[in-house]
Amino acid sequence: MEKEKLIDRISQNVNTCSAPSQLKITDLRVAQINGAPKHCPLIKIYTNQGITGFGELRDASSATYALMLKSRIIGENPCNVDKLFRRIRQFAGPSRQGGGVSGIEIALWDIAGKAWGVPLWQMLGGKFRDRVRMYCDTDIEGRHTGADMGRALKARLEQGFTFLKMDLGIELLLDEPGCLSAPAGFLEDVKKYSMKTLIHQRGSVDRDMMLGKNYEIFTIPHHAAGIQITEKGLDWLENYVREIRDVIGYEPPLAIDHAGHIGAGSVIRLAKRLEKYNIAWLEDVAPWQYVEQYRRIAESTTVPICTGEDIYLAENFEPLMKAGGVSVVQPDILTVGGAMELKKTGDLCDKYGVAMAIHMAESPVGCMASIHTAAALQNVLAVEFHSVDVPWWKDIVKGLPDPLMKNGFIDVPDAPGLGIEDFNDEVISEHIHEKYPGVWSPTDAWDLEWSNDREWS
Ligand SMILES: [Mg+2]
Repeated sequence: MEKEKLIDRISQNVNTCSAPSQLKITDLRVAQINGAPKHCPLIKIYTNQGITGFGELRDASSATYALMLKSRIIGENPCNVDKLFRRIRQFAGPSRQGGGVSGIEIALWDIAGKAWGVPLWQMLGGKFRDRVRMYCDTDIEGRHTGADMGRALKARLEQGFTFLKMDLGIELLLDEPGCLSAPAGFLEDVKKYSMKTLIHQRGSVDRDMMLGKNYEIFTIPHHAAGIQITEKGLDWLENYVREIRDVIGYEPPLAIDHAGHIGAGSVIRLAKRLEKYNIAWLEDVAPWQYVEQYRRIAESTTVPICTGEDIYLAENFEPLMKAGGVSVVQPDILTVGGAMELKKTGDLCDKYGVAMAIHMAESPVGCMASIHTAAALQNVLAVEFHSVDVPWWKDIVKGLPDPLMKNGFIDVPDAPGLGIEDFNDEVISEHIHEKYPGVWSPTDAWDLEWSNDREWS
């Protein structure tokens, strides 16, 4: 290669205004959008050298979980990702609480990658693949049949997707007499208070859905709700799935989520009915903390049982895997603790012989972080994609290939960090969450947030 060309190519990849060992974090700001497909709190970490890092909190999370960590990372070198992660790790928990630590971890990797000129997958140890399979969630609003769902799934296949997911739950049975058994009045309460939170594929779980009786109904764990599916209900659900397979055939993997808050007995009876329909996995059939319930369910059916989108830290997956409670896990990079924790979860999957899919219902920031990490995992089934019906989804950021999705796959980028050039503030402004206005507004109010952070004495 000619010398000039070589110098050109090298300089394209090195951020010449960056001296990585002198980098310092100077600020953390947020912009919260809605409808992509849910409430996405986006974060930006600023440095003293003009490099910014992009992160995001888990869908429908609170930006506070990141803002409360601002004072704990300011002045630090963002390239020391693991050092900073270990400092803030104590301030997160399951589900949406994981978003602050996880979102910051992603943004730190993004800065480190931009400063040193390498993509995230390279920092995680290199890649196993050049493109990542996406699995696509599909929902239909209102009353419908299995044949209708089959046609909706078939349309996804025609778009190029090769791996499908849908909801199959007790809400389909709420208007079918004799299909559910429950304490008197309870199903009416579910319909009255909780339907919006049960069927929220296209919207966010807003604050008003989390108040009073609504909160009470929404947060009753599966085993305590007292709901059972009757034989008639099982016939109905089985027929629904048979109709789907009649339309899409038996070849495409089809995962099932949101069975509803039914006890382990009903889950087992449902799973047994579904065995002959080759279900890829049955997701979140109990709160993930109940390891023994998972073991019991998993041992009672050949349908692969799956959980994990609400588990924070790789180490919290191990009891479930050890007990044989899961055949598949579906961690979310923005709950598990970020890219390194997702990678560590993959190592546990290899240790225990469990498959991994990656949950993702977020903006292109969460998506690309998942793609890089999926590329760096030896074994991964697919990454979720939740935004097929959101035309402006990719335009939240600049610099991604167009189209991003090719035949149900996303190419693994070679650009530094996450491979995202910038946020598109115009599109962000158009879709800003009405309850959380402001685009990258100052966050000085959080500068003095502090406590004695030592976890022991
Ligand atoms: Mg799920």
